[in-house]
Formats: sequence, C-alpha cells, structure tokens
Amino acid sequence: MARATIDGSRCQGHGRCALIAPDVFDVDDLGMGRVVVDEVPDGELPDVRAAVLSCPESAIALPE
Ligand code: SF4
Repeated sequence: MARATIDGSRCQGHGRCALIAPDVFDVDDLGMGRVVVDEVPDGELPDVRAAVLSCPESAIALPE
C-alpha cells in the first residue's frame, strides 16, 4: 500500500480527485481536496494514479 498526499498550497479546489477516486479523496467545505485514508488500498491505486495525472495543479503525490 502507498500513502497519498495533497499539497494544500497547490490545490485550487477543482475536485477532480474526489470524482475520480471517491474512496480516497474528498473535498472540504471550500471544495479543496483532502485525503480520507491513511494508506491507499492496492485496489484503489489505478484510480489514484489517474487522479494524480488529472489534477490540474499537480497537487497530488503518490510515492510508491
Ligand atoms: S484535483 Fe487537484 S486541485 Fe483539484 S481538488 Fe483535487 S488536489 Fe485539489
């Protein structure tokens, strides 16, 4: 398993991460992305990788 992070200084609140991987990301009341799991389950890795590539601000990191 891997740990995903969102750089809050980059995130602009597009919410794409939560649409692509809703079991791993959510948006707060301001629409900013947040990670809702400590570790990304292996089965979620493809969706999280897609979210990394789709984030317009390159705010998501997934060190593997
Ligand atoms: S897709 Fe990127 S910019 Fe948009 S909410 Fe998620 S982390 Fe933030």
